[in-house]
Amino acid sequence: MPDINKARDTGTGTLYLVATPIGNLEDITLRAVRILGEVDLIAAEDTRQTIKLLNHFDIKKPLVSYYEHNKMTKGNILIEKLLNGENIALVSDAGTPGISDPGEDLVKLCIKNNICVTMCPGPVASIAGLVISGLPTGRFVFEGFLPMNKKSRKQHLDSLKRETRTILFHEAPHKLPYTLKDLLDTFGDRSIALARELTKKHEEILRGHISEFIELYEQIPPKGEYVIILDGAKEDESARMPDETSENPCLSMSLKEHVDFLISTGIPKKDAIKETALQRGLKRRDVYNEYEQN
Ligand code: SAM
Repeated sequence: MPDINKARDTGTGTLYLVATPIGNLEDITLRAVRILGEVDLIAAEDTRQTIKLLNHFDIKKPLVSYYEHNKMTKGNILIEKLLNGENIALVSDAGTPGISDPGEDLVKLCIKNNICVTMCPGPVASIAGLVISGLPTGRFVFEGFLPMNKKSRKQHLDSLKRETRTILFHEAPHKLPYTLKDLLDTFGDRSIALARELTKKHEEILRGHISEFIELYEQIPPKGEYVIILDGAKEDESARMPDETSENPCLSMSLKEHVDFLISTGIPKKDAIKETALQRGLKRRDVYNEYEQN
C-alpha cells in the first residue's frame, strides 16, 4: 500500500513545515500566520530569529529549539508530543524548513511514526535567486552548501563537471571567494549569477563570469547572504568533456600542445582556447595569453 499522509483521523497531531521570509517580513503567507497562531508548539532552528518574527505578527506560542546539534534528543521529544495529539509547526532560520537544515530528519521520524506531515509553502532563497538569475530555469539542480573537507569538496565538484542543468549553491560570504576559485578550477570561466540579500534593502543580483567576481571580491570583500547560480555545461561541452574515470591525454601535454592538438581536430583557435581552459580549469584569458606568448 502506498504511504498516504492522513493521520488527521488517528488522534495524533500534525507536523506543519511552515516557510518564513528570507528577509522581507511581508513575504509571510496569511496561512503561515494562521498556522503559527493555531499550533500548540513551534519548533525553531534559531529561536532568537523566530521570536522576532512572532513578535512582529503578535503570535504568542511556546517555542522550542530544534537544530543540527540537538536534533536527536529534541526530535524524539517532538515525536512524543505529536503522538500525544499536539500540533507542531517547524520553522527554519529563514525560508523553507527542510532545505539545508535538519527539517528532513524530523519529517523522516514523523513518517516512521505514522504522523501526518503537511506543508505551508513560501520563500526558498535558492529558487528566488534562480528565477532572477537570467540563467536557464527549465532544468536545475540544488546542491546546498559544498562540503568543507578539501578532498570531498573536490570530488563533489568533479562529479558536477558534466552537469548540463543550472546548478544552485548556498554559500556564506566569508567563504565565497574561496568557493569561486574552486568553481573556476573545476568548471572554467562559466557564466554565473550571485543573488545577494534577496528581498532585503540591499538586494542585488550580479551576473557575469566566475573570474570577474574573483577579481571583484579581491577588492571588496563580500557581505550579506548569497545564493550562487552557476550555468550548466553546454550539451556539446559535456559530450566532449573527458570522463572523470578516464585520463585525458591532453593534460600531459604542454598548454600550447594542448591548444594546437584541439585546433588540429578542426575547431577554431578561439574555441580550442576555451576548451583548453575548461579542461585544465584555467581562465580563458590566461590560456590565451600563455598560448600567444609561446
Ligand atoms: N531554508 C532556507 C531556504 O529555504 O532558502 C535556506 C537556509 S540555509 C541554512 C542559509 C543559506 O540560504 C544562506 O547561506 C544563503 O546561501 C541562503 N540565503 C538565505 N537567505 C538569503 C537571502 N535573503 N539572500 C540570499 N541568500 C539567502
